[in-house]
Amino acid sequence: MPKLIKAKTALNKITNDYLPYKWDLNIYRGCIHRCHYCYALYSHKYLESDQFFDDIYVKTNIAELLEQKLRSSYWQKSIINLGGVTDSYQPAEADYKIMPEILKVMIKYRNPITISTKSDLILRDYDLIAELARYTAVNVACTIITTDDDTRKIVEPHASPIAQRVSVLKAFQKTKVSTGMHTMPILPYITDQPENFENLFALAKECEVDYVLTEFLNLRSQTRKHFLSFIQTQFPEFYADYLKLYKGWLVDKTYKSKIYTLISSLKAKYRIPKYTDRPVKNFSDQQLGLF
Ligand code: SF4
Repeated sequence: MPKLIKAKTALNKITNDYLPYKWDLNIYRGCIHRCHYCYALYSHKYLESDQFFDDIYVKTNIAELLEQKLRSSYWQKSIINLGGVTDSYQPAEADYKIMPEILKVMIKYRNPITISTKSDLILRDYDLIAELARYTAVNVACTIITTDDDTRKIVEPHASPIAQRVSVLKAFQKTKVSTGMHTMPILPYITDQPENFENLFALAKECEVDYVLTEFLNLRSQTRKHFLSFIQTQFPEFYADYLKLYKGWLVDKTYKSKIYTLISSLKAKYRIPKYTDRPVKNFSDQQLGLF
């Protein structure tokens, strides 16, 4: 049963200059999707629990705090990323229904957003998201790292099946929302086969996404321990190779360059637009001032 908490602020400032947004809003702490590569496990460290996948916290006052922030004369309609360290559409959202409140605040203030999810629960809020996209820039991305649902069940056991994520991307393509497929993280020996990449790019083309984002698995802090133990249990045949590829938290450079060559050729073959530092259609601070 999720624990209800009161947040002190709605938004967290992001210091990573490579991201096209500077603010993050997380309704939940923890995430029941249980992706074994999850980079966000560290985010539970200041809580009384270290069970990121099991102990879910709900920030019940977050829409109210967001409204306080957005109505301030200092707020500059910066892009807000919904769910940087948790999935905003994980199963708890079906009960708590906080995203519709957040989206209504965004519509009221015409604030641009980007959402990345692995759940088709986002379709419940289709009309609100499509409405916001009529006023300002909105980006919806689905993470799809494999087209094989049997592999997905092992690696991301509680996230939506691939077909449902595909239906999300296809549905939003009919609106003014820009869409992206996040084929990340790339998991060596599990999702790095050329056929898998070929299938992913063909799928991206079929969904007519505006960009594809690829990134390698990073094994930092708690993620390293959890993921390597997952490999030992589920894919013991790859364990020794993982230790060779991940001497630190980044993947081996030679491996990385080999995979990038393959990905670049597929991007060219399928004519997938490049992921730029601004993935959202018609997105620039100047344009945002015009809305
Ligand atoms: S959906 Fe994202 S936040 Fe949730 S477990 Fe998976 S990687 Fe972690």
